[in-house]
Amino acid sequence: MTSYISEHKISDVQRSTNIVHIISEYVSLKKVGRNYVGLCPFHSEKTPSFTVNEEKQIFYCFGCGVGGNVFNFLMRYNNVSFPEAVRYLAERLGIDIAIGSLSATKKRQLEERERLFKINSLAAGHFRHVLLETPDGRQGREYLDRRSIMREVIERFGLGYAKRSWNDLVMFFSERGIPLDDVEKAGLIVPKEKGYFDRFRERIIFPIYNIHQQVIGFGGRVLAQGQGLPKYLNSPETLIYSKRRSLYGLNITKDECRRKDLAFIVEGYFDLLALFQHGIRYAVATLGTALTREHIRILKGYARKLILVFDSDVAGLKAAERSIKLFAEEDVDARILILPEGHDPDSYIFEVGAEGFLRRSEQSMSIMSFLMKSAIEKYGLSLEGKVRIIRSMKEPIASLPDVVSRSLHIRKLSEYLDIDESVITNEIEDARRGFERSQPALKDQDSLTFSKFESTLISMMLQFPEILPEIDVHGMVQTFQTELFRKIGMLVSSTLEEKGSVEIPELIDKAEDDETKASISRLSLEQREWSRKSCYKIISQYQAVVQKREHKMFVKKIKEAERQNDQRLLYQLLEGQKRVKEKIDFMRPSAR
Ligand SMILES: [Zn+2]
Repeated sequence: MTSYISEHKISDVQRSTNIVHIISEYVSLKKVGRNYVGLCPFHSEKTPSFTVNEEKQIFYCFGCGVGGNVFNFLMRYNNVSFPEAVRYLAERLGIDIAIGSLSATKKRQLEERERLFKINSLAAGHFRHVLLETPDGRQGREYLDRRSIMREVIERFGLGYAKRSWNDLVMFFSERGIPLDDVEKAGLIVPKEKGYFDRFRERIIFPIYNIHQQVIGFGGRVLAQGQGLPKYLNSPETLIYSKRRSLYGLNITKDECRRKDLAFIVEGYFDLLALFQHGIRYAVATLGTALTREHIRILKGYARKLILVFDSDVAGLKAAERSIKLFAEEDVDARILILPEGHDPDSYIFEVGAEGFLRRSEQSMSIMSFLMKSAIEKYGLSLEGKVRIIRSMKEPIASLPDVVSRSLHIRKLSEYLDIDESVITNEIEDARRGFERSQPALKDQDSLTFSKFESTLISMMLQFPEILPEIDVHGMVQTFQTELFRKIGMLVSSTLEEKGSVEIPELIDKAEDDETKASISRLSLEQREWSRKSCYKIISQYQAVVQKREHKMFVKKIKEAERQNDQRLLYQLLEGQKRVKEKIDFMRPSAR
């Protein structure tokens, strides 16, 4: 399915974009040979199989099979629609595209998202204005002053203040003629019997940004405590705000995270601001939700080393238990830093300064060591205690997908507990069985042979397009048996007929589904050196196997017709067989 935006605008955008530059904003890429490679943001891996090709303007992951052009990357990574991905790039490039031709539903959705961004941005501006420039903001300014947050930081993060009013925002948007049901959809106001009231009142406001510097939601810290109000209040999930995917501060700290290849993960807004103010500008905050797989994948694009900072052993232990499998699967070097009792990152760094904080962070532990240490502290090293320790470590170790790291941790545990390794190994392998996945069934040999040929031929057409005028693409593709390759082959053939040439990113746009798009990317990238000679060779080999296949089929049918003594059918089949022999020739006569 093609876009709703005019095709030549799309190709304008496509041509003016460099996929390597765009993807580099999210994934650390290194040049290897003709390609750029990095760790895939869509699956967990140790060695980079995520590949970007500048010349062809496509990406493909040889690990999980995701692939496509720059639009497909942005769609998947940012969870947006095709027109949104095109628009995002168009805006960056200053290319004007109309959305007049969008389908009604898509258009409505796109417009709604944009209205919510607009509303959030207006609200953020209003909160900021109240905090910095009005008498109503005095309380907020004093509060931030008490917490020693500098003006520079306040401005950098766009902090604001929601004043003590039930309808300040309601009025603000009414006066501007902005429909209040949209403001409600943005999560800023709440409906009541008649009309609306403001969600945030008497709170310091933290606008939450995505990495494109758009405000997606808000957090609010209450000033007046002890009135049964929640200390922190966040925007609800909206069309543009998902807690699972949002990391506070990343829009500002991402470059520094990448430079250091390290990110501190803290829990609260003030923790992050305090670290930032002390010069530790490679941190993010999770905002009350546990760290999710999405968070980890996003962070992986900026730093390979993550340090989770916790106020106490208890909080740290819970988080460590919860996330051990996640970190192992995502293969991130994650460590846990526990602060001295009674401290959170905010209070701690104000007390000991950046140097003290960094010194403390040298004591951070790998998650597994932390779990072991906690279990030993909890159960002690009596015989009974050791049994309990093994029981509590069974699941975390068994959940590690990698056999080497499993056995390393088994050895370590056996050393700590002074228990024979084999005893622990048995326990772990027991628990391990639950994690094993079943193997996919094998295809039968014949169809394997054909699909191999078909994929090679598609690769040939994509990687050595010079050959296209010399072959009967349509005729050849007609004989393909694997639906996927037939589909791609047909796309090549129709594009060729229409335009006289084949551009891979364009072909990807035309492909209907993700599997096809990804396959086009993969087949364009797989390393093979093509020459005219090697093309001829593979085509003639393929011709021979097709001939054999057709021959077999005719023989079978002819036997059947003989058995039934159907003379007419027999005659038709024999004629058909003769014709097939002449027909199977995919080289154009002019080429020879
Ligand atoms: Zn992948």
